[in-house]
Amino acid sequence: MNNIYDYTKKDLENYFLSMGESKFRSSQVFDWLYIKRVKSFDEMTNLKKDLITYLKNNFSTSFIKQVAKEEDVDVKKYLFELFDGNKIEAVLMHHDYGNSICVSTQVGCNMGCRFCESGRLKKLRNLNVCELVQQVLLVEEDIKDRISHVVLMGIGEPFDNYDNVMKFINIINDPKGINIGIRHITVSTCGIVPKINEFANEKIGINLAISLHAPNNKIRDMIMPINKAYKIDDIMDAVKDYIKKTNRRVTFEYILLKDVNDSCECAKELSNLLKGINCYVNLIPYNETSNIKYKKSDKVTINEFYDILKKNNINVTIRREFGSNVSAACGQLRSKQIKRKED
Ligand code: SAH
Repeated sequence: MNNIYDYTKKDLENYFLSMGESKFRSSQVFDWLYIKRVKSFDEMTNLKKDLITYLKNNFSTSFIKQVAKEEDVDVKKYLFELFDGNKIEAVLMHHDYGNSICVSTQVGCNMGCRFCESGRLKKLRNLNVCELVQQVLLVEEDIKDRISHVVLMGIGEPFDNYDNVMKFINIINDPKGINIGIRHITVSTCGIVPKINEFANEKIGINLAISLHAPNNKIRDMIMPINKAYKIDDIMDAVKDYIKKTNRRVTFEYILLKDVNDSCECAKELSNLLKGINCYVNLIPYNETSNIKYKKSDKVTINEFYDILKKNNINVTIRREFGSNVSAACGQLRSKQIKRKED
């Protein structure tokens, strides 16, 4: 049975119209689900009895389940069990500007980035729209507060689950629903070029972040297998086209890995690569994990790298470290749980 949380308001309108109902029913159902936050059709008291019965027979309202939570100052990490028993995670961060959630988009990931914990567990499947939406609903319910920002940077590659991700964004952005501003939503990709091109044509103002992590193909080939399919030049062409079409600034994420991509030469090469592009660089101190050999760069090296970019007029920030005590690096909580089970 289809889950009601899989449907955008437009999908529901079409559904109601096709069954001879007024499309206004869609707004009513949406209001119950996303404003009043009821979890059953029986509670939708302004709908006729026979329509409620019909909806109950045709849609599920079931939810994914929270099975673990770890907390630290300003960060909460959730482990959710999906309908088929698979587990995914979401991270909530309290910033001074609001609450931001990092959602997962797939069960596992096939991109295989060498430094990433999620990639050690192969993709089992894409998340459905309802499983994406419910991460936001359940975390808002838990913190009893609004989420203001959403980043698609949890487990999985969002552009490898493109259609569901787009519907998810449509639902959480709906002003008559969860109402998360489009400029407060960020999609992060390891660089699937055809999807960046498709995304450019959507004409919606979401933020795009590219996990670049290397200034040249030699290093990127070593740490990100996706680079075999799409080279840095292809990514830069797609990004330039994206900026031309959307007039939006693009973010480049760059994890600093000790002795791999953190030299002064790398910083200079990165500056040259990004010169003149409307972008900013987010330098990410690597979150070490026990299963992976990479180490984080030391503070001095990170600051030197930062200074070189700055000197070359590249907009750059160093990401504040969140949650190194709560397994908040991509995929760590899920990986830990699965290991526990295997032990
Ligand atoms: N697949 C998408 C989104 C998920 S990964 C992407 O590649 O962008 C989200 C971000 O976390 C990516 O930039 C990824 O490279 C980074 N990341 C993965 N493991 C990390 C770790 N251990 N420490 C810091 N960042 C990490």
